[in-house]
Amino acid sequence: MPKLTSPLPTEEDKALDSTLRPKAWSDFIGQERLKRNLKIIIEAAKKRREPCCEHLLFYGGSGLGKTSLAYIVAKEIDSNIRATSGPAIEKAGDLAAILTNLNEGEVLFIDECHRINKICEEYLYPAMEDFKLNLILGKGPMARTMELKVPRFTLIGATTRLALLSSPLRSRFGAIFQLNFYKIGDIEKIIQRSAKILKVEIEPEALEIIARRSRFTPRVANRLLKRVRDFAQVEGKGVITKEIAKSSLEFLEIDEIGLEPGDRRILETIIKKFNGGPVGLQAIAAAVSEEKDTILDIYEPYLMQLGFIERTPRGRVVSNLAYKHLKISGSQKRLI
Ligand code: ADP
Repeated sequence: MPKLTSPLPTEEDKALDSTLRPKAWSDFIGQERLKRNLKIIIEAAKKRREPCCEHLLFYGGSGLGKTSLAYIVAKEIDSNIRATSGPAIEKAGDLAAILTNLNEGEVLFIDECHRINKICEEYLYPAMEDFKLNLILGKGPMARTMELKVPRFTLIGATTRLALLSSPLRSRFGAIFQLNFYKIGDIEKIIQRSAKILKVEIEPEALEIIARRSRFTPRVANRLLKRVRDFAQVEGKGVITKEIAKSSLEFLEIDEIGLEPGDRRILETIIKKFNGGPVGLQAIAAAVSEEKDTILDIYEPYLMQLGFIERTPRGRVVSNLAYKHLKISGSQKRLI
């Protein structure tokens, strides 16, 4: 697992995430199309004087802003938000407790909603559609169903793996939004905003250096900023200069496009052991001793975004761009 550039939140990130989380549209940088669409949905619900808006689903990689958006939506519709996650809803009783404790019009945010278990998911359908729960009491021939009304609520689901979401659940969301990787310019703005909140001075050239290593992901950008700030405070005069940004990130083994040793190991393994591919995910995972899901969720999206890895029907192939970046020439390809 990459140490500093993984988009997954660590314990340390949780505090940072909440300090830096955008609280209003004006703080939420980038994703312009999505923002415009969402604003229209919210405005329309307000005009119709509805207590909630449609159920919304956000999907996209970790650290791209799904949770932040859920909080902004709740604020925009003047609601409270209750947050939980798919794996935390283990039994139908857990879901019933959450839903019956909601107040009218509140937002229920379920992170990792592809991991809600199937039984709970089925209880969720009538709650999403008709705001009712059909609980089964007892077992066997004595079992009875009891219908419980639940307050009207807006469900906001977030998932990193849309393909793992069952289609009945997917179809019950009124609108589905994809969060994409950010443009470098937007990441620079995010770092600038975070630096202001963290009260650290940063030179414009340093902004770009950090942004280019942030894997187009706000959470990674914030984490790198925090690390570089430490270097600036200990080894410099507290200001993040171009030199400090460069030398500290080099020291942390993050190269100029945000690759860590783990990424390079995957690329080099495909080149050395599998002659550049095509090779199956399973074989790569075994060769680098990583979980298949870690490669799929953490490493591969960015390597594919860079165009370093291509997925073909016969497996993964390393592209010429990656050879160039790793300074391995085409002729060496066969020799390794
Ligand atoms: P996700 O739920 O997709 O994992 P989060 O919403 O928790 O992502 O975002 C992680 C952190 O990244 C946030 O706390 C926030 O500081 C930052 N962030 C994400 N998206 C944006 C954005 N569009 N503008 C500014 N900061 C952002």
